[in-house]
Amino acid sequence: MLDSDDNGKLMLRLRLWFLVPLTVVLLAAILLIVMLIRHHAYQDIDHNTERLSALSDRLYRDQIELTANMLGATMEVLSTDAALRRALQQRDRESLQQRAEPLFATLKKKYGITHLYFSGPDRVNLLRAHQPERFGDTIDRVTTLQAERGRQTAYGVELGPLGTFTLRLVTPWFGARGELQGYVELGMEIDHVLRQIQYETGVKTFILIDKKFLERKRWEEGMRMMGRKPDWERLPDMVVNIQAQESLPAEFSHILSRQLDEGEKMMSPLESGISAYRMVIQPISDAAGRTTGKLLLLIDVSQQTRSVGQMIQYSLWVAVSAFLILWLLFFRLVSGVGRQLQEDQNRLQELATHDGLTGLLNHRMYYLNLEEELARSWRTGRPVSLLLLDIDHFKLVNDRYGHLAGDKALKIISEQVRHACRQIDIPCRYGGEEIAVILPETDAASARISAERLRRTIEKYVFEFEDSAGVHITVSIGVASSAEPGATSASLTSHADNALYRAKEGGRNRVVCAAACNGLADDAAAEATPVD
Ligand code: GH3
Ligand code: MG
Ligand code: MG
Repeated sequence: MLDSDDNGKLMLRLRLWFLVPLTVVLLAAILLIVMLIRHHAYQDIDHNTERLSALSDRLYRDQIELTANMLGATMEVLSTDAALRRALQQRDRESLQQRAEPLFATLKKKYGITHLYFSGPDRVNLLRAHQPERFGDTIDRVTTLQAERGRQTAYGVELGPLGTFTLRLVTPWFGARGELQGYVELGMEIDHVLRQIQYETGVKTFILIDKKFLERKRWEEGMRMMGRKPDWERLPDMVVNIQAQESLPAEFSHILSRQLDEGEKMMSPLESGISAYRMVIQPISDAAGRTTGKLLLLIDVSQQTRSVGQMIQYSLWVAVSAFLILWLLFFRLVSGVGRQLQEDQNRLQELATHDGLTGLLNHRMYYLNLEEELARSWRTGRPVSLLLLDIDHFKLVNDRYGHLAGDKALKIISEQVRHACRQIDIPCRYGGEEIAVILPETDAASARISAERLRRTIEKYVFEFEDSAGVHITVSIGVASSAEPGATSASLTSHADNALYRAKEGGRNRVVCAAACNGLADDAAAEATPVD
């Protein structure tokens, strides 16, 4: 029979073989699902970032172009103003100021124009309508020089003296005879461009300017003048110059300073509090074609990352539930298979060791057990005895009452033998209607008493067969003991068999002890009771 230890090991092995690979495969599948979802979701986020970044870039250029067009149209209207032309031609600063100032106030209020310059043909400034106290300096900015060279309108984004990014449009004014009267310049800060980008795309937009194009003191002054808080030290090479509405989250400074060094355009994930962003940096150039700054786009992807998180969470729930259900099903299946195997094994073991009719140990087990008990007896010096029991005239029982009745009698006698046995005694079916009982720790005298008690019990028992009144069956028993030096299973069996033979010879229904039973009287016969 399988003991509980073997059984435990078998179940453990079954579980390891089935459940460990299953667990590994299922966990790998869950991991793969999560990775696929993440990959696809983040690919989507990256595509969206690319799209928004391209859109913002186009919007930036379109808005600059649109603003330049607006400045151009304004310039055309201004150029039809005869009073302005006359004053510029005559370099009459006072008349120019009188006429230009109200005009500038209207332009500033209505269109957000922030600069209006009038300079002579030599580019010496005659009037800054937006800052009348400053004049007399030569304007040599790229746009003015381009207008001078090309003798036509020039425009572009330029860094102002205070470090602000300003879109400037400069037009040379010519008199009736084609003589150059001077230059008129309209300028506008481009904050609104960033606001427009942010409004249309939801992208937070910033302009960073390279420090090498700026003078710290003047830049700080300029920032303060425009009501902004200058922070020159925040980034190593750049300053944040223009920002649409919101300020750059402070924790990005570190990442930003690293990324600005690394390359031209990048997309990298950033997080601030509960918000997640993709950061895109694109170079922007001024009217002279110099890369003076960078357009920094912060694309808020919090919503998408949150839904990725949620999607992963839901998928995990489903996957883990499926995993648990599958695991439980397999666990039950494996346990069931294990139990079945164990039962089959036990059944096989039972068939291999027991006799099918009586349930007693079979002939093979008889010898194994006897060998074992004899070995123990030699080790401990304690005796082991053997009873060999044979049913008297059993052939007659079969003949008279039928074979089935014989089987029944054999079963009942086996049961009685078993009943008479102590826990340590080992009853076996030795052969046809012969039963052997190994009595460990028992000397010949005690064995004989036990045999006699058994004989009497059987003798008294009334067997009920079909169509017959109560029947008595008797048995003869041969007793042998290991007290004989050098006793083996064969010799012990042979002595018991001889004693049994003598019991039969002596008239049956009796117990006979083998000669070697230490001088105990041979016979202890009871009245022979032949089969009725
Ligand atoms: P005795 O032992 O008293 O000398 O006479 P006996 O009739 O018992 O002896 P014998 O050895 O001639 O016969 C034994 C009989 O036991 C023969 C056989 O048919 C019967 N027998 C053996 N095994 C079984 C069994 O499993 N079932 C039945 N019904 N009979 C069995
Ligand atoms: Mg017999
Ligand atoms: Mg026999």
